[in-house]
Amino acid sequence: MPKRIGVYPGTFDPITRGHLDIIERGLGLFDLLIVAVAENLTKTPLFDVNERVELIGQEIKKYKNVRVESFNSLLIDYLRKKKAKTVLRGLRVISDFEYEFQMALINRKLDPGIETVFMMTSENYAPVSSRFIKEIARLKGDVSAFVTPNVAKRLKEKYELIDKGLIKNHGL
Ligand code: ADP
Repeated sequence: MPKRIGVYPGTFDPITRGHLDIIERGLGLFDLLIVAVAENLTKTPLFDVNERVELIGQEIKKYKNVRVESFNSLLIDYLRKKKAKTVLRGLRVISDFEYEFQMALINRKLDPGIETVFMMTSENYAPVSSRFIKEIARLKGDVSAFVTPNVAKRLKEKYELIDKGLIKNHGL
């Protein structure tokens, strides 16, 4: 039997407990789940693609059927290359729906063989988004409920460098 390979694409800037919850619940659906970090985006992330991959790598090393990679092509082409047929996405709030719905339809038009599967957030993580977490971290708030200790530490370090003017804040 061919392996069932799922791809969970996103920006992951940075990975949150909400993303990890989707990964944990999603991995039961596939023989292999690839977390695919989008490199080539119009928005400039706070963490560069290698940092985002590394942060995810540390969180997923405990699972043997999850892997992290970056990609900078069309998602559909990336799936073909990986011989994957399923895109995994998470839904938090109603406002996620419109964007996700459009993207799923467009991907289906581009390749009718690709199916998008949505997982509802766990209610604890409904308000968790990378954008708000960055805002809290920038203002020196406590993000420990939303990200792992390692990610919280990296956020703190990043904003310290920004505060000192050593790097530019691209993340907002
Ligand atoms: P993108 O920029 O592609 O939306 P994100 O990194 O923000 O990437 O999110 C990747 C995917 O994870 C999206 O499908 C998003 O809806 C989902 N997601 C993000 N946060 C959560 C959460 N707290 N609960 C469930 N799904 C989430």
